[in-house]
Amino acid sequence: MRVILIGPPGVGKGTQAALLGGRKGVPSLSSGEIFRREIEAQTDLGRMAQRYISHGELVPNGVTIEMMAKRLRDPEIRRSGFILDGFPRTVRQADSLQEILADLGLPLQRVYSLYAPDELIVSRLSGRMGCTKCGAIYHSLSKPSTREGYCDVCNSPIVVRTDDQPDTIRERLRIFREETAPVIEFYEELGLTRVIDASRDAEEVYKDILSELE
Ligand code: AMP
Repeated sequence: MRVILIGPPGVGKGTQAALLGGRKGVPSLSSGEIFRREIEAQTDLGRMAQRYISHGELVPNGVTIEMMAKRLRDPEIRRSGFILDGFPRTVRQADSLQEILADLGLPLQRVYSLYAPDELIVSRLSGRMGCTKCGAIYHSLSKPSTREGYCDVCNSPIVVRTDDQPDTIRERLRIFREETAPVIEFYEELGLTRVIDASRDAEEVYKDILSELE
């Protein structure tokens, strides 16, 4: 499987990537998650990325492309394929991704464009929490963890992301429209985009993607 999940923040890309990856044994590559790990490990890349992420801005294309190219060139990814979650987010990133994949001989199969109304996105993001270790996603109302504050999967602390604050959420939505919506058109022109209504339950969305993929 070689697919991209694209859509505004909070639309459920991470949840779908985990469901699809779990079922098919295909690793998901989340650029946001990789940045968060770098931030936690306090690497140079993490410190640099943090300045942008905390304001809801995009990390510059150059470093983002380099970071993702390195992951995609991993032999394991060549064998198993990938689910890209959160990358590419600009047309420049999409162009570079085409070059990297052509070089590896791994053409994209599908790009799923997930959409949901803004009000739903804001309410989903407002209660969202993520595991600091394995990245599992929870929601204070719709999907609380069994033991408050700790992950059901690996028992590590779960936290609200610093960029899930109302002002930052609005900025991320604005950037999505400006920078990332054109990426959906880019793949539409290549005949790869399939539009998915992600305002429904995660399980229903997942079934839709799966049946389209198969
Ligand atoms: P996410 O977890 O996908 O919502 O990403 C969190 C944040 O990481 C984003 O708001 C951006 O600041 C940064 N980020 C993630 N992916 C990218 C990307 N492809 N290009 C630039 N910045 C990114």
